[in-house]
Formats: sequence, C-alpha cells, structure tokens
Amino acid sequence: MESKKVILLRYGELFLKGKNRNLFENRLIDNIKKSLIGVDYKFIRTQNRYYIEDYDEDMQQIIIDRVTKVFGLHSLSVALKVQTSYDNLKEAVLQFIPQSGTFRVTTKRADKSLDKNSMQISAMLGGYLLSKNSQIAVDLYYPQSEICVDIRENGYSYIFSDKIDCAQGMPVGTAGRGMLLLSGGFDSPVAGYRMARRGMQIFGVHYHSYPHTSEMAQQKVVDLAGKLTKYCGDIKLFVVKFTEIQQAIHEYCREDYMITIMRRIMVEIAEKLAIDNKCGALITGESLAQVASQTTKSITVTNDAVKTLPIFRPLIGMDKYEIMDTAEKIDTYAISQLPYEDCCTVFLPKNPVIKPDLQIAIKEQSKIKDLDKMIEEAIKTVEEMEIKAEY
Ligand code: ATP
Ligand code: MG
Repeated sequence: MESKKVILLRYGELFLKGKNRNLFENRLIDNIKKSLIGVDYKFIRTQNRYYIEDYDEDMQQIIIDRVTKVFGLHSLSVALKVQTSYDNLKEAVLQFIPQSGTFRVTTKRADKSLDKNSMQISAMLGGYLLSKNSQIAVDLYYPQSEICVDIRENGYSYIFSDKIDCAQGMPVGTAGRGMLLLSGGFDSPVAGYRMARRGMQIFGVHYHSYPHTSEMAQQKVVDLAGKLTKYCGDIKLFVVKFTEIQQAIHEYCREDYMITIMRRIMVEIAEKLAIDNKCGALITGESLAQVASQTTKSITVTNDAVKTLPIFRPLIGMDKYEIMDTAEKIDTYAISQLPYEDCCTVFLPKNPVIKPDLQIAIKEQSKIKDLDKMIEEAIKTVEEMEIKAEY
C-alpha cells in the first residue's frame, strides 16, 4: 500500500459566518501560510477541511507547533492518506489499532461509487481489527479510541485517530485592529492574546520613562511583543517617551491622583495613535480590583479621557491565577517575570486614591502646564518598531 502522512486541519466557528465565510476562510488560509513560511508543503483546500501534504516528515512537529497557534483553527489530526480500496483501508486502519480497550471505526463516505455504505465499511474494518487483536472490543457509544476513515470523492481516503486542539477563536485580521497598551507586566500581553483570538490585528503602544526606567525595560516589551507574534502575526509597536509628562504630573498634581491622571493621559495618547493607525479600539490588561487603579471608579475616570474609541479589557473578570496560566501557555510568563520596572512604578504615590472623583481628576490634570503641547510632542517623537513574526 502506498500511503503518506498528511496533516488535516479543521476550522472552528467560521462556518457560522454565512456570507462572510469566504472572507474569513481566505484570511485563515493566509495566516496558516504565513505561519509556515520557510517550510515546504502542499496546501489543499476542500469543502470544510484543509490538508497539509508533501512535507518532510522531520518538519511535522514544527508544522504542528505553528499551526496550533493560528486562531480560527479548531483541531488537527495527523492522518494517513491512501488510494481508496478496501484492502488499502484495512492496511491503514491496522496502523491505528489499539493495544487494548474499546474502539469504534467511524466512516464518512463522500465517494458514492463504492458498493458498501459507510456503516458497512465501518463494520468491515472494525471486524478486521477484531480479528487482529483479541484484547480489544467494539463500543459504538463510549469507545476509548476512535478510528476515523474519511473517504473523499477524489479517489483518496484519510485515516486518523487522535485530535490535537488548536488555538480556536477567529482568524487574526477579521475583527479590525486594536491598539494594545503593552507594559512589561503579566497582564497586558495576555490581554493582547485574548483580543487577537477574537480576530483583532494587534498594534502596541508602550510608554517608557527613560532614564528612570532602563533600556532593559523597553527590551522586555519588545520581547513580549515578539512572543505575541506567534499568535498575532507582525505587530507594529509604538514607543512613547513619557518621562516629561510623568515628571509634570509629579510636579503639578495631587500625589494620590498621580496614577489616575497618568492613566488618563496614557489612553488619550493611545487613542490618537489608534485613530492614526485605523484601530477601532484600545486594549488594556486591567482586571477588576487587582490594584487601586482598577476599581470601577478608576475605570470610569480613565474612560472619560477617551473621546470616541471603546477600551476593551478582556481580563476584567479574570483572576490573577488564570491570567498567569495563560501567560505560561503563551510563553510570556518568563519575560514578564523579569524585574525591570515599567514607567508606572517610578514616581509611585504611597496612597493612590481608590475611588477617584472625575471632577477632581480633571481639575488636577488641568494644573499641568502645557500638557497639550507635551502630548503633541510625545506623539511627534514616538518611535515606531516593526516586530516581525518569529516562528
Ligand atoms: P500589567 O501586568 O499589564 O502591567 P498591571 O496589573 O501591572 O498590568 P497596571 O500597571 O496598573 O496593571 O496597568 C494596567 C494596564 O495599563 C496594563 O495592563 C497596560 O495595558 C497599561 N499599562 C500600564 N503601564 C503601561 C506602560 N508603561 N506602557 C503601556 N501600557 C501600560
Ligand atoms: Mg504593570
């Protein structure tokens, strides 16, 4: 029997999308292909599945590692592809025979030229396996393993057993663009990941207060963005010089309102950069009640500083532990853990206000001399970096 290994890809929620399905599928396929740059393979698109074929078997694990991170894919299986004949199917299922326990064979038959229907084929193949191993039994309802036989119209069949979960979600680029406020902490990279998973293309903005914060702190953010690209694709990162503004807040504003005002100015700048880059939303890593600046009141006062765009806070209802778990999974944990301070930790007030008052915040902020000019300057001197996807 001539057979070869192929990777069968299944997509998730896409089929819900009716008319837009083509748009979504094209984006998904594009993203899969981008993730496989540098790998030789053939891509086959069928009605509701894709196949990766003709790759070097040494590359199989690398291909799996990459495509399992592409949002929009539901699961994959490594399958055997054979020319359809009953003998070939028998030989192929034999390669998936369990050592013990219960199993079932599930056949899908698109090729109607065969003289048996799918039930009959499953029964035939199941019977064949039973004859080869007396330690196994068929259980159609709760089998311990399942061997799937997919008989296509084109004369080929695919046989597989295990499914590997993919990243789920929607293809990046199908839900517009989002400007992620990216610090060096644990939360904001996870927030970016969550929104990319819903199909947003991620842009990043980071505020740094050199020389109060080190070059290392900035490098940390670049590295975090690099990790995110495995899921999000290329990321444009804006680095804003925030030192002057932070110093001015320190100089002119009530100490307990410093963080509140800093947040307001951050989102104001982020919104301007977002609009310039056609982003439809801001994204932050805030989680309710995690710190003083993440109370409902604080969030209200922050939101007031944004004129038109929504702020997405995908972690708002998540526990720190859940966030950490995700950070671990997406491999940002080790970087976020590094000690270099981001700009929020310099000039930190001893007792930040927990329930800030909007009018007081506005009044305190208005005491800053030439704030508009400073904001303009910060945007004019913003450093733009292209973080290319590292696979
Ligand atoms: P993180 O772990 O993401 O740093 P955090 O729990 O430390 O979050 P804060 O430091 O209060 O919380 O920041 C809240 C959010 O504000 C962050 O998740 C991030 O989106 C944004 N943010 C904070 N500092 C910066 C910064 N220096 N540059 C860009 N965004 C920032
Ligand atoms: Mg932080």
